[in-house]
Amino acid sequence: MRKPQIAFFDFACCEGCQLTVLQLEEQLLDVLEHVDVVTWREAMTEESSDYDIAFCEGSIARNEDIGRIERIRDQAKVLVTLGSCASIGCHNALKNKWEMEEMLDLVYGEEGKHFDTVPARPISAVVDVDYQTYGCPVSIGEFVEVVKHILTGQQYDPPNQPVCVECKLADNQCVYEKGEVCLGPITRCGCGAICTTYGEACQGCRGMMASANPRAALRALTRGDANPIMRKVIEAHGLTEQEIFEKIRVYNNWPQLDFEELPVNDD
Ligand code: SF4
Ligand code: SF4
Ligand code: SF4
Repeated sequence: MRKPQIAFFDFACCEGCQLTVLQLEEQLLDVLEHVDVVTWREAMTEESSDYDIAFCEGSIARNEDIGRIERIRDQAKVLVTLGSCASIGCHNALKNKWEMEEMLDLVYGEEGKHFDTVPARPISAVVDVDYQTYGCPVSIGEFVEVVKHILTGQQYDPPNQPVCVECKLADNQCVYEKGEVCLGPITRCGCGAICTTYGEACQGCRGMMASANPRAALRALTRGDANPIMRKVIEAHGLTEQEIFEKIRVYNNWPQLDFEELPVNDD
């Protein structure tokens, strides 16, 4: 029986997610027993337009990307987004704060008129997507899980709880206690709380979970009557609501976040 043929594609991104998959080493060899890789520019010379499963990395950021992802969608039986650029827009969507012509002028000056650009968006904003993986770079455990789900024909529901859940399971000291701002309370888990496990604050790279209440997070981190730990954070960093909002926006600017209209979940 023919093994599923898989292909990797990249759009606007740093290609770090593909590199992360390549670094799977022994686990990658296990995966390769069950599939045939037919296209992967970062890893091999051969390519084929006959594939069943497409892993797509990066955001849609140019007009020409739209036609290309539509062609991939037409060919692939299964389309998977690889990492946060592809799944939530990631840093690429920061450019959406500007009008595209103004942004081109800021970055490239006179030469900007030669570039094709549109507001950056996740792949699911253009075509239907079957599976999504998150993280910058992609959370490797989630990538392996998704591959297993595809090969066994199961749906994969990404986790939708905060990083704090995995952080507590790992018995970590909360970085707030060290006077650092952490986006774990509003960020989708699934990375094993890797940053906080190594003592670093979560920067929110897996995107906000659906039930996140960023407005409440801003209030908790800036209000004067905060509990002693929160007061320590506020004293150490002196961040305003606007400054914390800018941290949230780094990975979460699709659809474009507006400070005044920040989504609030009162559940
Ligand atoms: S999600 Fe991060 S690591 Fe992956 S391609 Fe985008 S910028 Fe690179
Ligand atoms: S360190 Fe961050 S992720 Fe961990 S419990 Fe504290 S706020 Fe949550
Ligand atoms: S802890 Fe936060 S920043 Fe680190 S990998 Fe997980 S979601 Fe990304």
